[in-house]
Parts: sequence; structure tokens; C-alpha cells
Amino acid sequence: MSKQIFICGCEKDGKIEKESVQKLMSTLEEKNIAYTYIEDMCGTILKNPDDLESLYNAKDAIVFGCQARAMKHLVDNSGRKTEGNGTEYHHVDDDGQEELISALESNTGKPLKIKYSDSWKPWYPVIDYDRCNGCRKCLNFCLFSVYSVEDDGTVVVSASANCKDMCPACARVCPQNAIIFPKHAESPIDGGEGDGTQNEKTDILEQIQNEDVYSVLSARRKNFQVSLLKKDQFKMAEEERRACCSGADKKEEEKKTEKCDCDCNCKDDPESTDDCGCKDGDSNSSCACKDGNSKSSCC
Ligand code: SF4
Ligand code: SF4
Repeated sequence: MSKQIFICGCEKDGKIEKESVQKLMSTLEEKNIAYTYIEDMCGTILKNPDDLESLYNAKDAIVFGCQARAMKHLVDNSGRKTEGNGTEYHHVDDDGQEELISALESNTGKPLKIKYSDSWKPWYPVIDYDRCNGCRKCLNFCLFSVYSVEDDGTVVVSASANCKDMCPACARVCPQNAIIFPKHAESPIDGGEGDGTQNEKTDILEQIQNEDVYSVLSARRKNFQVSLLKKDQFKMAEEERRACCSGADKKEEEKKTEKCDCDCNCKDDPESTDDCGCKDGDSNSSCACKDGNSKSSCC
């Protein structure tokens, strides 16, 4: 079987075992099976998407990395994948890996590498459109405008970089468990299947419309424990969101009180309105007057 093989190494704050990745690469090399090693697919897909052309255009590919659902939607959400081209996604520690590899043909190609050298830590949500029902809860909950709505009503992640580092709060409020943070440690937020339950739908009428009322009520009773858990999740999400906001405020505050050690007249006084003397290129970029307190054009 001839397939293109890709391995994601999750190098930026990685969540998969380096040993597993190394073992997989050694196995492929022993069998003379060429592969492309992607240092960090989450980062590359946002920062250097052109580098992944070989993956988007691959006719028949296997990608090894973290959770299959996370990688699939990460690639699908990029909107660049050529339609009709088949790609399978597997965890690097998948039980069936040996069988999968033994079915692959040897070839003479050499391993390739797709680098990710950006300092940005790729943390952002990915929507699983097989689950999303367009309810907009994520959009209303997020205070950082990460989500927006397209003309056809589809909720999209439109400002990934606005997402606050390590905050998974919107994933907890999604009633469909449709939001994935690939680098998160918990399932289903990381794209794992979770316990198979979806967060409780709040509109019972909506559920009863097309179903037998008794089966809906019985399912709700069964899910009662789950509902309590989800309430805890909502509380957790609110706390996470609050922590993000105070983190952002603190950073702003720190910026404002930064002391400048360049030679300008407004030195040490962030409130200064002096026309500072460093505007001719001698500016130290940490000058406190850059936050709008200075009337000069320096910094
Ligand atoms: S989270 Fe998954 S897709 Fe993202 S870099 Fe890590 S292994 Fe790759
Ligand atoms: S909260 Fe979940 S289901 Fe609702 S629009 Fe957002 S991603 Fe989709």
C-alpha cells in the first residue's frame, strides 16, 4: 500500500511522548518507508500554512500525532485540504500501529522535516463541525473575540491569536463538546472521545420535537449525574475566564509601570509628557512612554 506518512512531533510545549515519536521514526526507517516529520502542526498550520502543502494535497496519507479527532479538525478547519483526498489520523501510541506499518510499501525516499521556529506557543480552539450545532454559546462566552459568525451562520474561530494561553473555558461551555484544544491534557477537550456524553442541551422542547417524549425524559434522568458534572464544568469555565481577564489586566499594569533606562527626558516617569530625546533611533524598546503617555513620537 503506497501512502504518504506524516508524523507530528508536538515540539512546542508538546503533549506526546518524544520516545514514542522516535520509536515510530526508527521503525519506518528500518523498513525504508519515507515520512515527513512536522515539528509542530498546531503552530505551522497557523503561522506557516504554506509549509504544509504536501499534507493538504496528499492523495492518500496517514498522520501520526496526538488525538485523531484533534488532528483531523485542525487540518479540515484550515480550509486548504484538497477535497476527496483521503487522510487517516492515528495517535503515535495507537495499538494498531504495527499492523498499519506492516501494510505499507517500502520506498526509496528520504525523511523530510517541516520546521516550526516561531516563538509563539500555539494555543487556540478548533471546532469539530461534525458536532457543532451553531448555538453560539462559545461566541457569547469568550471575552476576547476569538469567535465570529459567517454570513451563513457558521461559528468560526477567526482570531486564534487572541486566545488566552492555556485557557480552555469555552470548550467547557460548549453543549456539544465540539471545541478542541489539541494541546490540552484532558479528554474530550484535547479531541479525545471523552465519556461519549454531550453537555446537556438546555432546550427540552427542541429535543422532544423529533423524538419520543418518554425516551427523552429517561435519557435526561440517566444524564442527571452528568448534568451535575457539567454544572461544575461551567463554574470551572467561569473561573478560568476570570483568571484570564485578571492576567491580561496585570500585564497591562506591568507595562504601564515599566521603567525605562534609556537617555530620554521622560525617564523613570511613565506619566511624563516631555518631548523625549530618544526619538532618533536610540530608543530602548522597553521605554515606559510607549504606552501613550508620551507626546513624542519616540519608542
Ligand atoms: S497537539 Fe497534536 S497536532 Fe498539535 S502539535 Fe501536538 S501532536 Fe501536533
Ligand atoms: S458552543 Fe459549541 S456547539 Fe455552540 S457554536 Fe460554539 S462550538 Fe458550536
